[in-house]
Amino acid sequence: MTEHAPPITPEVRVAPRAAAPAAAVAGPVNLIGLTRDELSAALAAAGTPAGQLRMRTGQLWQWIYHWGVRDFAAMSNLARDFRALLASRFTLALPEVVRREVSADGTRKYLLRVAGGHEVETVYIPEEGRGTLCVSSQVGCTLTCSFCHTGTQRLVRNLTAGEIVGQLMVARDDLGEWPVPGQPRREERLVSNVVLMGMGEPLYNFEAVRDAMAVVMDGEGLALSRRRITLSTSGVVPGIARAATEIGCLLAVSFHATTDAVRDRLVPINRKWPIATLLQALRDYPRLSNSERITFEYVMLDGVNDSDEDARRLVRLIAGIPAKVNLIPFNEWPGAPYRRSPWARIEAFADIVFKAGYAAPIRTPRGEDIMAACGQLKSATERDRAGRAAPAAAARLSVG
Ligand code: SAH
Ligand code: SF4
Repeated sequence: MTEHAPPITPEVRVAPRAAAPAAAVAGPVNLIGLTRDELSAALAAAGTPAGQLRMRTGQLWQWIYHWGVRDFAAMSNLARDFRALLASRFTLALPEVVRREVSADGTRKYLLRVAGGHEVETVYIPEEGRGTLCVSSQVGCTLTCSFCHTGTQRLVRNLTAGEIVGQLMVARDDLGEWPVPGQPRREERLVSNVVLMGMGEPLYNFEAVRDAMAVVMDGEGLALSRRRITLSTSGVVPGIARAATEIGCLLAVSFHATTDAVRDRLVPINRKWPIATLLQALRDYPRLSNSERITFEYVMLDGVNDSDEDARRLVRLIAGIPAKVNLIPFNEWPGAPYRRSPWARIEAFADIVFKAGYAAPIRTPRGEDIMAACGQLKSATERDRAGRAAPAAAARLSVG
């Protein structure tokens, strides 16, 4: 993807696939986040005979992703020698939980430390009958959407597949969601959905996101269906078709404006791939069924993109695309150059979109008391550290 990417810090370009078994790095290799093929290659490199590779890979996979076991010694159906070999060559390491906050409404926010001392956030949002994990794909973001606080962060690096899968495993650890041998599996899943809507632009970290989602979707492990995973992009057009074929999850697009002039300002990547080009890519996005709608995310900014005329233009633009429109009340942050649209305005906008035949939910604010909000992830912690006052504006967490 980098050939299409805007200039980025050298750190991104050299970001290693830390978990790749081929890397000739000293020290144990972390197996978390390796695809099945990579796991097999790691086991082969450690001397597993070819005839046993398939079976060993399958066994290990189940221990790691079905049972959530992190200690090789506890993998009881593996030969003792083999367990010792695994322990000497490999680790099963997750990002370290630096801080964990639980909102009065049950929303949980994890501040995680990844290699190099960088920090990212993951947010768990429980709802009736489902639970959504909002996962980060990068430390910070190279893009600079003017309403998004993540875009103001200086530090950027891609997360590895292991660090992305690790976010899900951390949440399952914390929620106590791994199955217990001998006990019936719970009916309802706690982490039932994943949205790639945390920090970062997932399509600028394509391979790691793809591999991580392959691990998450694997039926013998975490086993989330492709329809329970939604990738949100700011509009990286070449990545969109690739996402359909190589990841196969649902797609959300941060649309946010109905003219190129306004979208150029809000989502600057629009200068590279303007609205018409983006819409064509979305029209071409292959779906297995028409029920798989594309989500258009639309942040409501007072006086900027929230007029009736905008709403009418929006429905004209997306005509013919199986779509739903998620209206996101802007999460204000200190120094933000925008205000949230008044509720009556958001409702009037939603009404026009709805009457044109599209679902137009207004996202419910969640986790306000712990600042678990889109566009505010990690910024609150950084402010704490800087010793500045907490923002007066309430943080909002939104779910689709
Ligand atoms: N980079 C990807 C995914 C992460 S952002 C993308 O832009 O799509 C997830 C969503 O939160 C996007 O729709 C983004 O536009 C929105 N968002 C960012 N900052 C926000 C804020 N301050 N208030 C409301 N939504 C915000
Ligand atoms: Fe990056 Fe998405 Fe924020 Fe834009 S909205 S700066 S793409 S995280």
